[in-house]
Amino acid sequence: MKSGWVDSEAQAAIDRYARDGISRDLALRVYTTRLLGRDPKLVLHGGGNTSLKTTMPDLLGEEVAVLCVKGSGSDMAAIEPAGLPAVRLDRLRKLRARAALADEELVRIQRASLLEPAAPNPSVEILLHAFLPHKFIDHTHANAILSIVDQPDGEAICAGLYDGRVSIVPYVMPGFALAKRAADIYEAKPDVEGLILHKHGIFTFGESAREDYERMIALVTLAEERLQKNRKAVFVTAQLPQAIAPLDAVAPILRGACSRKDDKIEGAWRHMILDFRASPAILNFVNGAELARYSQAGVVTPDHTIRTKNWPLVTVAPERERMDDFKRAAQAAVTDFGERYQAYFARHNARAGGIKRALDPLPRVALVPGLGLFGLGRSKEDAKIAADLAQCAVEIITDAEAIGRFESISEAEMFDMEYWPLEQAKLGTAAEKPLAGEIAVITGGGGTIGAATAKAFAAAGAEVALLDCDERAAANAAKAIGTAALAVKCDVTDAASVGEAFARVVAAFGGVDIVVSNAGAAWQGRIGEVDEDVLRKSFELNFYGHQRVAQAAVKIMLAQGTGGCLLFNVSKQAVNPGPNFGPYGLPKAATLFLVRQYAVDYGADGIRANAVNADRVRSGLLTDTFIAERSKARGVSEKDYLSGNLLGREVTADDVAQAFLHQALELKTTGDVTTVDGGNIAAALR
Ligand SMILES: [Zn+2]
Repeated sequence: MKSGWVDSEAQAAIDRYARDGISRDLALRVYTTRLLGRDPKLVLHGGGNTSLKTTMPDLLGEEVAVLCVKGSGSDMAAIEPAGLPAVRLDRLRKLRARAALADEELVRIQRASLLEPAAPNPSVEILLHAFLPHKFIDHTHANAILSIVDQPDGEAICAGLYDGRVSIVPYVMPGFALAKRAADIYEAKPDVEGLILHKHGIFTFGESAREDYERMIALVTLAEERLQKNRKAVFVTAQLPQAIAPLDAVAPILRGACSRKDDKIEGAWRHMILDFRASPAILNFVNGAELARYSQAGVVTPDHTIRTKNWPLVTVAPERERMDDFKRAAQAAVTDFGERYQAYFARHNARAGGIKRALDPLPRVALVPGLGLFGLGRSKEDAKIAADLAQCAVEIITDAEAIGRFESISEAEMFDMEYWPLEQAKLGTAAEKPLAGEIAVITGGGGTIGAATAKAFAAAGAEVALLDCDERAAANAAKAIGTAALAVKCDVTDAASVGEAFARVVAAFGGVDIVVSNAGAAWQGRIGEVDEDVLRKSFELNFYGHQRVAQAAVKIMLAQGTGGCLLFNVSKQAVNPGPNFGPYGLPKAATLFLVRQYAVDYGADGIRANAVNADRVRSGLLTDTFIAERSKARGVSEKDYLSGNLLGREVTADDVAQAFLHQALELKTTGDVTTVDGGNIAAALR
């Protein structure tokens, strides 16, 4: 591992922050924190922290000694000075004299000692930074260090490797007790460059930001070099079926197995979003004959447990043509996982005095031999974090096994970490949105109504995929949503294109829960004279397009086995034909019937089918030019043309989007058509 320090960049950081009145020391603290944060072999997802001891004026202008320490859970790669809140150092140091300190009390003292009252909560490892004397302190859970300390004889390997340059702290859970222990061990040998925390990570110290950072790089490099010596070949491969099923066949089954019925709302499911990873290293790991041993040995560092749980789910290898067997086995594996988790909770909650509340017993990582690994979470973002940490664990455990045998902390120690309120606080307490965990596909996603609908579903917490034959339009609409929205090229008049698009959605998120079949276009012609080709073209898009999309979605929904929701954009024309508009109205009328057919055929599977009947919405179909022509032809203003309805109100794409959203949330409604047209009695459904 090479030092990333560049003199000119360090100076640029000093100059840039000086303009905001930030000191040289704090500017360099930010600079090297970012250097550490940008290397995933050192730091992943808030899994490290840094500090600086300096002086600063308090709110009254009096200069006080402070510890600037990274805020809890913040991202080191993008940190700014405000991400290192300043805490009065003398107050923190007084705590060392105490025999014990409750978490709530520490949090209150910390907050009351912040120079800036609105600053984020400091890192849970704040006292370790405070009790050590050094000006600069860096802490990481570096992969190479973990591969060495996660061994039965990890302390002995470190002692030999570092030859007095570091002291070793036996495993103690992060918090007050660890801070005291680490300070005592440091003081017994104050010439060390750092501390190795057994089964946890590494701290380095320095009088300058550069000295501290480069000690981290040097000590981690020694561990990396050690891992290259005397390696044994890992892992011996297990017997696997000849033909492994593809990702898009496996993911919906796994996702369904990892979903739970909502106890409180009949018909509702709590779904997970999946994030898939495969690489030669991951396949080598999940295909190993001893996977059941080394994958279940526990976390690589205690901080991972809140994101990955202590163990991943392990399934059987999915054999193509035998997916029913895989489904049964996956469901049984998830049931076993849940029972094991509940027994683990009960055992340790009893030890903790019965005061803890059990978290959900669902896996956050799934290993599928022959295929790869999945991260699971209630959002794509959470699933990605779990997958990143799982991928990192694969690397650490592989290296640990190559030089010895991977060993984690004890089950009791993992429980104490998982149920530590200060760790749980990192996950936040924001209430979940109504569509959290749901995956929505919107066809015609690049158009006005499709884009508005995707935006409304994303705002309600769903992960959204925008399908459109105009890939750029879909990409622009996805970008405007500003989340993990996915844009996929899809021509709904082509069955292969629809199949590929749904496979891409499944690969990205793990399945499909809601489909808004919205793609369409208008053809005109007097029905007695219209060319048959025109009629067929319109049927291809405005009827068969919906049927293809619904069929592809139902296949995935049935594999998940957790119901679903099909929503269709039908038109006023379906019930109230306009002159010369037969080529558009006829397939739309068939689509209205299609809605009801899906409602009838799949109600027993929990799949709902509903439609929105909108009229006169400014969109790609009803363009500004078209509106200008039609209003001129009728001798009315554009506004009057668009609001020529009973309520006298113009209907917008957002109104249509809200109607789709409403239907997605109405768990007891199927076979329904919701009219969004400002009122048109001639088109009223009976
Ligand atoms: Zn740590």
